Amino acid sequence: MTSGPEGSDGVEDLVVACDVGGTAIKAGLVDACGSVRHDDGLPTPVVAGDGAATADAVLAEVVRITARLRESAAERDARVVALGVIVPGLVDAEAGLARYSENLGWRDVPFVRRLARATGLPVGFDHDVRAAGAAEQRLGAGRGRRDVAFVPVGTGISASLVLDGRPYAGGGWAGEIGHLDAGSGLPCPCGGTGCLETVASASAIRRRYEERTGRAVSGAVDVAARLERGDPDARAVWDAAIDALAASLTGLAAIAAPELVLIGGGLSGAGDALLAPLRRALDARLTLQRRPELRLAGLGDRAGLLGAALLAWERVGVRVAEPEPHTSRPDAHRTPAADPAT
Ligand SMILES: [Zn+2]
Repeated sequence: MTSGPEGSDGVEDLVVACDVGGTAIKAGLVDACGSVRHDDGLPTPVVAGDGAATADAVLAEVVRITARLRESAAERDARVVALGVIVPGLVDAEAGLARYSENLGWRDVPFVRRLARATGLPVGFDHDVRAAGAAEQRLGAGRGRRDVAFVPVGTGISASLVLDGRPYAGGGWAGEIGHLDAGSGLPCPCGGTGCLETVASASAIRRRYEERTGRAVSGAVDVAARLERGDPDARAVWDAAIDALAASLTGLAAIAAPELVLIGGGLSGAGDALLAPLRRALDARLTLQRRPELRLAGLGDRAGLLGAALLAWERVGVRVAEPEPHTSRPDAHRTPAADPAT
């Protein structure tokens, strides 16, 4: 692995990455190989019932964290060349806007403009799950692959797509497989019927098991653990989830043809109890579609932070760990257009 790029003065370049979540802001200094050099973070400053005030407080914290991380970069003879920030909800990355977040309550917050003005840095900005998917493709379990779907299964389900090496956003709307009809026949809060999330999200698996048995469980992974003990209710709930996931991934294979599907989120904690039957169910459904390899995601809750770092690097012309077509070349390199030496 190469070291990060250096300016002509020999000072190493780093970026500040911020993953703004519903409960915490994770931040760090990240080099051009995708290594986190220094961690920081704090609880997300939520102003109850006031999305605009929450946005102001979050932006102020990101500016403060950035200043702090710039100081720690200077202490190690490095400098910060860009800032990358990711947020949940609906995001218009091209316009630099956080359109809407149900958890944080904000609407149309110009993150990029406000952070660029306050920090003087180039700002990369995107949706949290999309950025995490890009990080999995470049630095995690999808390293070296160009067509990757990252599918976090937690309270909800979505697919973050990297197609031909580039994140595909569809204006922020792509990959919402959680609200495609997967055949459950159940009503969904979105207004649809049979949505994948009604049976296969980690929350749905837990809820359906509890409703069926009257027994409390700690989560979907706990339901998976009961399969080994021959619990027929766990089996019924689990099989329905696997079947719906396989149906949705079949649609994904037909439309986007990922070579690799990475399952992340809380449900991935079930490991082989999830992957083995899902592989079988998917195999049984696929006919002439490209058969995606199925794996667990590799970066865990670091994926977002690293995704934010990739966005920051991209703003200054560095594509970290980009795979070449048909080869795997994990080293960081500058794109020729951005390299003043070429
Ligand atoms: Zn739905």
